[in-house]
Amino acid sequence: MVLSVICLGLLLSLSLCRGQDFSYEGSQGPSHWGKEYHTCVGKHQSPINIEEHNVKNVSLPPLRLIGIDNPCRSYMTNNGHTVMLKTNESKAAMLTGGPLKDRVYVFEQLHFHWGENDYEGSEDLINNHSFPMEMHAVFYKEDYKSMNEALKHDDGLAILAYLYEISPQPNSIYESIIKVLPDIEVVGKGKALEQSLLLGDILVPDIASMQDYFTYNGSLTTPPCLEVATWIDFKDHQQLSHDQLAAFRDLRNPEGNKLTHNFRPVQPLEDRVVYQNIPIEFSPSNNASYDHHFVGHSDNGTARPSVKMPILFVALGALLAIFLFAM
Ligand SMILES: [Zn+2]
Repeated sequence: MVLSVICLGLLLSLSLCRGQDFSYEGSQGPSHWGKEYHTCVGKHQSPINIEEHNVKNVSLPPLRLIGIDNPCRSYMTNNGHTVMLKTNESKAAMLTGGPLKDRVYVFEQLHFHWGENDYEGSEDLINNHSFPMEMHAVFYKEDYKSMNEALKHDDGLAILAYLYEISPQPNSIYESIIKVLPDIEVVGKGKALEQSLLLGDILVPDIASMQDYFTYNGSLTTPPCLEVATWIDFKDHQQLSHDQLAAFRDLRNPEGNKLTHNFRPVQPLEDRVVYQNIPIEFSPSNNASYDHHFVGHSDNGTARPSVKMPILFVALGALLAIFLFAM
């Protein structure tokens, strides 16, 4: 009796373990995920190929990251599918605005996807073009209080996606992260970063381009592929040297082999619309003209050129005229 209970327990735990397994090749590769995880064959999956001629232009309120200038202790772990950075603070950074409207999302973790060579590795493609790496910064909706609860709701997550290209020079912003990679090559290993990290350095490398992005509704790109994410893909590209990027390929997967690639192939767009933000000066009227999932807004979404400068000149001109008239 005792033996059979132990056996049953062992079988159960083995099947649970297997249930969490997935890979990027072979019998557990992306084309097989749907067998074990039915949600991976949904209609609003990520990643996708973003075709610039097929996006709808919208002008959303400013996307804002809050708290990113406070240094925080952070650590990296190898979970067998990627390396993930988390901080020791519960609310190290908050995200709001843009397609999220006034809803607030809390930073949970960031991680990377890469390929076997410098010509592929990103998950989302732009005009069918693959980039050598993509970083995802994952935020959960504050109202849901935890990542686990947020995963149960279709507006549960907001994910910032950053695409990379190869540069001749190393990018010093990523040095502290890349430095710990050799120490966490084995699955399950983790290590704290030596110095406190400014999330702002990584999440907002260039404030001027922060409002230039594509956005669409999609899923987690790993099983169980839940369709709970508002994706925000920045158009600006980040830089990494070949050697910096190659360091990620030395990490090991659960089988002990090198994790040379960990990107999911693109999924059908189906009935979704990809939006492109056309930044304009924030005003309450802009804020009122769209909805979270952009329902009913598509007809208003025409490209609008920046009107900041002309208005400024007209206003200055008018002031000058009034001033001269008064003299
Ligand atoms: Zn990811």
